[in-house]
Amino acid sequence: MRTTLGLAMPTKNIIRLNARLGDDLHALLEEVVTHEYAHLLAHKRHGRRIRPHGREWQALMRTAGVPPRVRIKLPEGLSVPAGPRWLHVCRSCRSETVAGRPMRRWRCRRCYLFGFGGKLDIRRLTGHPSLERETT
Ligand SMILES: [Zn+2]
Ligand SMILES: [Zn+2]
Repeated sequence: MRTTLGLAMPTKNIIRLNARLGDDLHALLEEVVTHEYAHLLAHKRHGRRIRPHGREWQALMRTAGVPPRVRIKLPEGLSVPAGPRWLHVCRSCRSETVAGRPMRRWRCRRCYLFGFGGKLDIRRLTGHPSLERETT
């Protein structure tokens, strides 16, 4: 069972956080933000040739004083819904929308209204699912 607490999209400089982190998982917020931010930094410094949780990322985590762990054990009885994992990109204006599943009938509203069709390319987010729930 995989649970995404955070997601980094380094090419867009975007970090997404699971909404539960603002609530009952607040204790994990700092670690998840640091985890994702280290991905953005690692990408900025080393480009895309590095492994997501390779030594460059690990070094940044240690600098921040956070153990570089990829899996985390959630408190007993807590479950977190998986975050949105599907990116929809407008072929005309490149605007992006994220959803929990591929929405093949969606169109970019603005481009549709202006007669450009507004078709969307759909792909699974390449950001890795960080801090998954550990299965015991
Ligand atoms: Zn568009
Ligand atoms: Zn990660």
